[in-house]
Amino acid sequence: MFIAMIASKLSRTLLRCHSTAAAAIAYNSKNVPIEQTKLFINNEFVEAASGKRLEVINPSTGDTICDVAEADKADVDIAVAAARSAFNYGSEWRTMNASNRGRLMYKWADAIERDIHYIAALETLDNGKPFDDSLHVDIPLVINTLRYYAGWADKVHGKTIPSDGGTFVYTRHEPVGVVGGITPWNFPLAMFAWKIAPILACGNTCVMKVAEQTPLTALYCAKLAKEVGFPDGVINILSGYGPTAGGAIASHMDIEKVGFTGSTEVGKIIQMESAKSNLKRVTLELGGKSPNIVFDDCDLDQAVAASHMAVFFNVGQCCCAGTRLYVQETMYEKFVEKMVEKAQNRILGDPYDPKTNHGPQIDGEQLNKILGLVDSGVKQGASLQTGGAQFGDKGFFMQPTVFADVQDHMDISTQEIFGPVMQISSFKDEEEIIERANNTNFGLAAAVFTKNLDRMYHISTALKAGTVWGNCYNVLVPQSPFGGFKESGFGRDLGEYALNHYTEVKCVTLAVPQKNS
Ligand code: ADP
Repeated sequence: MFIAMIASKLSRTLLRCHSTAAAAIAYNSKNVPIEQTKLFINNEFVEAASGKRLEVINPSTGDTICDVAEADKADVDIAVAAARSAFNYGSEWRTMNASNRGRLMYKWADAIERDIHYIAALETLDNGKPFDDSLHVDIPLVINTLRYYAGWADKVHGKTIPSDGGTFVYTRHEPVGVVGGITPWNFPLAMFAWKIAPILACGNTCVMKVAEQTPLTALYCAKLAKEVGFPDGVINILSGYGPTAGGAIASHMDIEKVGFTGSTEVGKIIQMESAKSNLKRVTLELGGKSPNIVFDDCDLDQAVAASHMAVFFNVGQCCCAGTRLYVQETMYEKFVEKMVEKAQNRILGDPYDPKTNHGPQIDGEQLNKILGLVDSGVKQGASLQTGGAQFGDKGFFMQPTVFADVQDHMDISTQEIFGPVMQISSFKDEEEIIERANNTNFGLAAAVFTKNLDRMYHISTALKAGTVWGNCYNVLVPQSPFGGFKESGFGRDLGEYALNHYTEVKCVTLAVPQKNS
């Protein structure tokens, strides 16, 4: 997602080259120590009640990294009980000064920063993304998000209200209670931070279920949460499968809220489970099929660079990937050529090699899904310009793939591929492209490239998406809200907006003595 901070990345080029090279020598897929493989409940690392464990696979080799405890309903129940006890009125967490709550979060961020090379190496091992991205994009985003929300901890407050007659009325923005977080594998620790940071800032306690493919960095950070002094039961972190551990969270009667990031399909299940159980509050950050619209009056180099990364960053495993690339017909052929050239220049391979900028897909299931959709693109008549097949004979690498002459009805134009596959088609004018861009069930993100400000304003207003980027892509910072329209979900991660989802508004009305009574 986040070439976020493109600017800050560039400004640190020298430092990065030095530190990445040094760290890459230090770590490779064989020498990253695995410290934590148990569930983190009530500030202790424990085995699953069933004793079961699940295998964690290195996506760049297909080898087993280790196994971790496999939580299911019994463990969710124990974790929820711990979180409930930590949340009870009068508990250490509930009575802690809000500013001290913020200080704990700052300390957690500091501890993560202290261990950033190790955590980045672990993220790369578990997820396959290039070490440079883990070190300079994902883990800094984790740290920045924790710090941003640490600053909010003592700034979440209500209002006093001028009521009619004899009462004093004020609102309290109280924590919701025990919150369940269910997070995906594409940005394992970053998505974990996007959820847990506002949860903690608002004074909630939580049970976090991390993706079964990528549990390792969150479990390590659990150790750091204990080290910096979070009280027992405030943070609980479970590794486990979706339908079992995740399902137990979604349907739990003593969880008040679930924050979820993942597929639209599972988001719908979670909302149904919430309705069938205790009507817990739900926020859902789901899939996308984001349009990226390039006009012929754009800054060409800027549009080329950003449009390429809009699809290929994180090997397309981004919910906001700009996979529907619409290029104005007057420069269509030239643009397709440039997109093909850039795709062919990507460097696939060992993610610890500083030269590599393109890692594997997360697993064989995702790779096969991508290959199936590529096949459908060819059969439905799109023009395959480059790629289209698996790369290498180990791990789950996919060749960078570009389709041109894509038509809007094709499956590759309507379905989320979640892989390094770009779909390009041409358009004539503004009115046509607004209609086509909005003709989707999704509404997560969109982008427009043009130097014409009137056009930029008009189109960014007309697009139905939670995020619109103008002359850039994937710029995501903790201060800016992120979330979807339509089937891309509801509610917002990040920014001040996310705080609303983790508080309840209580209105207190007090009778007050009248002046003459
Ligand atoms: P993806 O398709 O990208 O793997 P998912 O939506 O399946 O995304 O997974 C995102 C998160 O949701 C993961 O932590 C996964 O374990 C969890 N999950 C999957 N299925 C369910 C389910 N039925 N109930 C609750 N959580 C689930």
